[in-house]
Amino acid sequence: MTNQSKNLTDVDYTDLAQKIRRWGEELHLTIGITRPVIPQSHQQALNDWLANGYHGEMHFMTQHQQQRLNPSVLHEGCISVISARLDYWTETKQSALSHLQNPQKAYISRYALGRDYHKILRSQLKKLALRIEQEIGPFQWRPFVDSAPIMEHALAQQAGLGFIGKHTLLIHPKAGSTFFLGELLCDLPLPTDEATDHCGCGPCTSCIDICPTQAIVAPFTVDARRCISYLTIEYDGVIDESLRPLMGNRIYGCDDCQLTCPWNKFSKTSQVSDFSTRHQLNDISLLTLWQWREDEFLRHFEGSPIRRIGYQQWRRNLAIALGNSPYTRETEQALKLALPNATPLVSEHIHWALQQQAKSAKTQSLREIPVWVTKSYL
Ligand code: SF4
Repeated sequence: MTNQSKNLTDVDYTDLAQKIRRWGEELHLTIGITRPVIPQSHQQALNDWLANGYHGEMHFMTQHQQQRLNPSVLHEGCISVISARLDYWTETKQSALSHLQNPQKAYISRYALGRDYHKILRSQLKKLALRIEQEIGPFQWRPFVDSAPIMEHALAQQAGLGFIGKHTLLIHPKAGSTFFLGELLCDLPLPTDEATDHCGCGPCTSCIDICPTQAIVAPFTVDARRCISYLTIEYDGVIDESLRPLMGNRIYGCDDCQLTCPWNKFSKTSQVSDFSTRHQLNDISLLTLWQWREDEFLRHFEGSPIRRIGYQQWRRNLAIALGNSPYTRETEQALKLALPNATPLVSEHIHWALQQQAKSAKTQSLREIPVWVTKSYL
């Protein structure tokens, strides 16, 4: 997606940068500008993270390091990075928490309730580039939304879009962390924004303390192998039994570190209607989703990021969540009914879920017996 460059020496780039910010706002984007340079501290943090094996099965993280550490390799002639933030939050923290705390409901990370952000943000970046071309004529540009090895948090921090929190996500002091990031790499010598050097976490450790699997192993370090987002979305294998009970009803991603973060009281409600919740996914029971056949899964998740994990991984995640839900005869029956046609991966997790249901049934029946009976005879 590049165009022939022409002589752009007459352009007032300070004025252009201001216009880019304004056009960004019209597209619901918050813009910051930086050079395509990754600071040494971020490079060291990445190397340490990989050396510790915290990337799990995400082998792609060990590849293309030259591009990752030097974005100008990704797009020849790139001298500026236009970093863009797009808010996705569509509901209240209270409603997210109430569904998270209901073990019979499915919890889906709030970023995934609507349409897939990749296409939406990429399209906004493309519109922004075309708007710039309208003003100054052709220039070289290329949009990125999670589509190449690019250290988007490091670049966004350099572009003044926020600081990196102890949970490793970017936080804007006036917008929290509930947004997506994308980049437009270009050959325009735009003035840069001031980097956000100050970390706003202070003594807070709320995200570290609340993480259900203790995946934030140190401030600013996440062991992906324990992270529920990684386990439910990136990892397609058998999930370690010790982690399954800790996953609760989280079937696609996890928001706990963001829900607890005090900065998210400043989260901005998204202006993009495509992020609105589809199929009542913000308030739907595990059993309803368990009944979806593969064709229904594919149809309901047309254009959704959830489709990417595929039906079997989806069923695996649901089986774990059903195992973590309180015993009901209906749940037990639904799990048993699915066994004959289950793949080995799903079958393993269904068997585990049935064991959990049996334990839950026993606890429930003990609760129904008067205390003096359990004390005297059991
Ligand atoms: S919860 Fe606290 S420690 Fe974690 S990112 Fe937010 S402010 Fe920082």
